Amino acid sequence: MGGAAPVVVQSMTNTDTADVAATVEQVVQLAQAGSELVRLTVNNEAAAAAIPLIREGLARQGLDVPLIGDFHFNGHRLLADHPACAEALAKYRINPGNVGSGDSKDSRFASMIETACRYHKPVRIGVNWGSLDQTLVAKMMDENARASEPLDAEEMIHEIMVTSALESARRAQELGMAADKIVLSCKMSGVQDLIAVYRRLAQRCDYALHLGLTEAGMGSKGIVASSAALAVLLQEGIGDTIRISLTPEPGGARTQEVVVAQELLQSMGLRAFTPMVVACPGCGRTTSTLFQQLAGEIQSYLRQQMPLWRQSHPGVEKMSVAVMGCVVNGPGESKHANIGISLPGTGENPSAPVYVDGEKHSTLKGEDIAGQFKQILNEYVEQRYPAG
Ligand code: SF4
Repeated sequence: MGGAAPVVVQSMTNTDTADVAATVEQVVQLAQAGSELVRLTVNNEAAAAAIPLIREGLARQGLDVPLIGDFHFNGHRLLADHPACAEALAKYRINPGNVGSGDSKDSRFASMIETACRYHKPVRIGVNWGSLDQTLVAKMMDENARASEPLDAEEMIHEIMVTSALESARRAQELGMAADKIVLSCKMSGVQDLIAVYRRLAQRCDYALHLGLTEAGMGSKGIVASSAALAVLLQEGIGDTIRISLTPEPGGARTQEVVVAQELLQSMGLRAFTPMVVACPGCGRTTSTLFQQLAGEIQSYLRQQMPLWRQSHPGVEKMSVAVMGCVVNGPGESKHANIGISLPGTGENPSAPVYVDGEKHSTLKGEDIAGQFKQILNEYVEQRYPAG
């Protein structure tokens, strides 16, 4: 992670970490959806004791996805008392605003960094504006009040966030942590705040940066706000790993945050994870919901196939598939995709022309256009992306 490496997708579980079976199941789901790192809260003795068991449970399923331990007030003690947990984790996340105050803060922070050094683990120093180091806030606010040209309140919060991250990183290096084992984050819940604070942070350090809009919210609001903030920063080359902090809908899949993160990176042309489906929005020319169903079915099918295809058909993640509602824009869009289909619109013949690599391939008719199209898709993948 960091430097010229691709931006990494990560996610976080919401199971009780002490519930080994439930947590293993969710980590498997997140990893299979494409999460390249998975973070778990390690909030108490039972959670710390569960970490090596979770690691073993994943290994039994052939999964080696790195696990990140999220530590707060008692992390120093949990890491010291549970060496198997310290060993099993791939990275520790430390929030400098949540490790105590005064001398106890310094000693707890040092204890966690020393443990990370002993086990050769990287750390993320993750500042969150909801839990800023209050001693640092008071000190910097006082200094600002006495300054000849004080910063306004908003800028001051940004400066405190950045200072907290950088001072903690400097202290970690003094304790022996290598700079290339430190990742920083400064999470805020406002889009403009997040952009401003990360620009400030990126100007002042070369550490790898973790991006995420904290408390992004539910549904489209969370997706849009996260994408708006992260896209601006990623476009400026800021960010080495991302997490989309979505609040799941009741009963909704936790894996949605992974899908959104992947789609954000893929839409921006930064990474490719799953073949992209280009679909028109539909309009009065579409005679039925058939094309919406087909677009959804093909998107789901491609995503389901990816765990297998990723191994057996390298490069398939760059494939594009067009599913269009009528022949107005359908053939044109289809010709630009690897494979495209245009369903019949109002008044058109009940047939669906298919294009493969820009050439007319066939015309599908009948009740099972979806099945026929998937068959063409499978044949194309076999031929175009042969086993590596
Ligand atoms: S391709 Fe056809 S159905 Fe789709 S939006 Fe355009 S005109 Fe409407």
